[in-house]
Amino acid sequence: MTELLQCLPLKCTTGEQLEDSGFRCGAGTHLRQHGGPSHPRPAQGSFGTLEGMARSSSIPGTLLAAGGAAALAAGAYAYAAMWPASQIFGRCVVAGKNPRQIALTFDDGPNDPDTMHLLDVLAKNDVRATFFMIGRFVRQRPELARAVAAAGHLIGNHTMTHPLLPLRSRRAVRQEIGDCNAALEDALGQPVQWFRPPHGGRRPDVLRTARELGLTPVMWNAMGYDWKPIASQTIVQNVMRGYRKNRTRGFGTNVLLHDGGQQCLGQDRSRTVAATAHLIATWRDELARRGELCEFVTPEAWAETSCGRISTD
Ligand SMILES: [Zn+2]
Repeated sequence: MTELLQCLPLKCTTGEQLEDSGFRCGAGTHLRQHGGPSHPRPAQGSFGTLEGMARSSSIPGTLLAAGGAAALAAGAYAYAAMWPASQIFGRCVVAGKNPRQIALTFDDGPNDPDTMHLLDVLAKNDVRATFFMIGRFVRQRPELARAVAAAGHLIGNHTMTHPLLPLRSRRAVRQEIGDCNAALEDALGQPVQWFRPPHGGRRPDVLRTARELGLTPVMWNAMGYDWKPIASQTIVQNVMRGYRKNRTRGFGTNVLLHDGGQQCLGQDRSRTVAATAHLIATWRDELARRGELCEFVTPEAWAETSCGRISTD
């Protein structure tokens, strides 16, 4: 748990800090996860193992064993709480088993002016997407939330202030999710049904609370890393890397991008907007060459089929 606490996104300023290839916080310390909880593999040789270390030092073997067990437990907890595709702490929609299906999801808005620029790109390409909104921004700019809904996109709850929920009390978790529900319902005139935990962080009671408040949790299995100061072409490459991995495994792709930033309104997401246009064209061209039709969906398409199904490692 210590390393997980070091990985808290305090150093990170925008977007989702916990990536699908590991828990990274900028250049900060992180507990790297790939394909599940990973732990340093003891080097071979007489001084490379815990036992070898115990023999060669004054560290009691039982203490090392206890430390190893604690590290394992911390790693398992971190995986369950933060890994995007983990279903250990409760079922989450990730993606279905149709590689031609792609869901574009945008977090941390609504955000002026890039949410509107994104709506233009999506309209020009006739693509329906999903927006997980932060309640305090919805309160500040309800007309943006209404514009997203009026354009036909799916809107979901991304909490009121974007905290790391596993570190909040149960009462605070309920308030964060409930307040965002209220902000969205006030703006849109109807309740929302979808929820994405900030940073992907959850505990069993976080997901239970979301369901009690009428929400279905949604995670992701491809990311643009677009909170970083990277070029739009790099965002495209990042997403396509996740897409190809999902396709190889026979799964659809649920893409995490950002039309806003958790800190404040007005964050520049122009590179994400440009990358989105490029991604849509790339997928349509690539699938057309295969004689396939690219199908842009929302998590609704996968709610019945993907709950409990892990679509990435
Ligand atoms: Zn977020």
